Amino acid sequence: MKVAIVGGVAGGASVAARLRRLDEKAEIVLLERGPHVSFANCGLPYYIGGVIRDRNRLLLHTPGSLHAVFNLDVRVDSEAIQIDRSAKSVTVRNVNTGEQYQESYDKLVLSPGAAPLVPPVPGRDLPGVFSLRSLPDTDAIKAFIDERKPGRAVVIGGRFIGIELAENLHRTGIQVTIVEMMDQVLLPLDYELAAMVHQHLQSRHVQLALSDGLQAIELRDGGGLKIVLQSGRSIDAEMAILAVGVRPESRLAQDAGLALGIRGAIATNEHLQTSDPDIYAIGDAAQVTHLVTGGPTHVPLAGPANKQGRLVADHIAGRAVRYRGVQGTSIVQVFDLAVATTGLNRKQLEQAGMSYQSAIVHAAHHAGYYPGASSMTIKLLFGPEGQILGAQIVGAAGVDKRIDVLATALRAGLTVFDLEELELAYAPPYGSARGPVNLIGFVASNTLRGDLKVITWDQVAALDRSRDFILDVRDPEELVAGSIEGAVNIPLRQVRSRMGEIPKDRRIVVYCAVGQRAYYACRILAQHGYDVVDLTGGYTTYSQAVGPRSDSSG
Ligand code: FAD
Repeated sequence: MKVAIVGGVAGGASVAARLRRLDEKAEIVLLERGPHVSFANCGLPYYIGGVIRDRNRLLLHTPGSLHAVFNLDVRVDSEAIQIDRSAKSVTVRNVNTGEQYQESYDKLVLSPGAAPLVPPVPGRDLPGVFSLRSLPDTDAIKAFIDERKPGRAVVIGGRFIGIELAENLHRTGIQVTIVEMMDQVLLPLDYELAAMVHQHLQSRHVQLALSDGLQAIELRDGGGLKIVLQSGRSIDAEMAILAVGVRPESRLAQDAGLALGIRGAIATNEHLQTSDPDIYAIGDAAQVTHLVTGGPTHVPLAGPANKQGRLVADHIAGRAVRYRGVQGTSIVQVFDLAVATTGLNRKQLEQAGMSYQSAIVHAAHHAGYYPGASSMTIKLLFGPEGQILGAQIVGAAGVDKRIDVLATALRAGLTVFDLEELELAYAPPYGSARGPVNLIGFVASNTLRGDLKVITWDQVAALDRSRDFILDVRDPEELVAGSIEGAVNIPLRQVRSRMGEIPKDRRIVVYCAVGQRAYYACRILAQHGYDVVDLTGGYTTYSQAVGPRSDSSG
């Protein structure tokens, strides 16, 4: 059996190494266009920021080490430029010499990744304008910073890579502006959680230009760049990084007549075979099934690429394996915050036409009485039967373990009722007897059982003051933080004694700071015959979402 693999990094190297563990005799040829295989693309921003100091640490393997350990035939600087499916061979071009040759295969695996999208604007090729995918890109950015010592940078695009770059450029002393076409950064987040990130970026003096796109990049008289935005505004900087997303590298597949899917990604079946069963596609170039919708999706993340590589190796080795789907679990550091998601967000659920409800809690990452507790915000999206459809968390500590529990629960098909019962590790320095995951399970389950009705922050503006009575159950000293217009303050402790002030003929919309006291008040009032709803996430979420969005374009 001869297996040729196009792309020698996350997905490609995974296929090769796994296949060798399953088949000592297979001939495995790994073709990589660039000068490096199996490098740590996810570490590149942190090398630019100086967190990772030793460049060699980014090289997880060399062709020599892959040959020594796995007996792989690794060819760097070797680009696959054409596939002849009837002859089952690939034309390979040496990118240094231009020399070409044919390489035959029994099975071919495409893991060519995705290239940074470069917006077709004037000035995109000017010196000082970069994008980031490879080690050579990283070297170019780092050399520019070391030699030119830029004072200001503009990052175009507020997605994962843009945010990581903004943080790492800031770390080197550069003043950073992020330009983002949408009204929020980090699109897997719903707006109210993204707003927390906006405020945090502002607190770290990273400027945001939201709802604005790149129009052109010009050279400034006297040096430097002028970044012209679609709004007409311009920003002066010494460097710009284009990080607006990625485009699957599917040209090779397309030229070979393989079927493409959304965003031009290579269509695959449940075994990750393309429309030609002897050719597989994985990673950032492939369209796969989404675990939650069951429909096609394109999720360019390292974890799925690695796991898909492993699965393809198993399938090639004759094992009966099936790819169940990708769920898009991700996490990114934004200065002192961790931002993590799994599954679908509100927009995606609406696009998929799936019915859902949501709940938000703000919970301490470990026992509040133990020093150092910090708050995290968890949003859970769940279906009518309690199915977990998606989760988002923003917080300073303990976010990674909570998203991993929720991601595991989603994959295992657990429901919000199971989250109530999860028995998770607890001692005061690590968690709470009823930890954040239990808490979001309680709130979601209460909602489905009818013990609690909720509204979300974006429904507040549409409340009809003649029919809705807004009840704020915080203590009076908390009101300095602000309140919802027209709300009447009756602290939780006084709700029973002052019930006469709460009208029976109107719906009562209750809120407190984070939701817990409002829930208690809702239960009291509901048992006294009131029609009552809770503002999920409380005033904290509401004020974060409607507050100034730290947009430097105003
Ligand atoms: P890649 O790892 O990109 O490998 C594809 C390789 O194929 C490339 O080296 C390319 O040169 C080669 N190639 C392309 N065409 C050909 C051809 N015709 N012939 C030969 N070789 C070819 N994901 C996360 O989950 N978490 C993170 O924190 C994270 N951080 C990231 C940070 C950065 C800066 C970048 C760029 C990506 C990051 N990612 C992260 C995404 C992650 O790296 C990718 O999802 C993953 O590498 C995809 O694996 P892949 O095998 O599909 O493609």
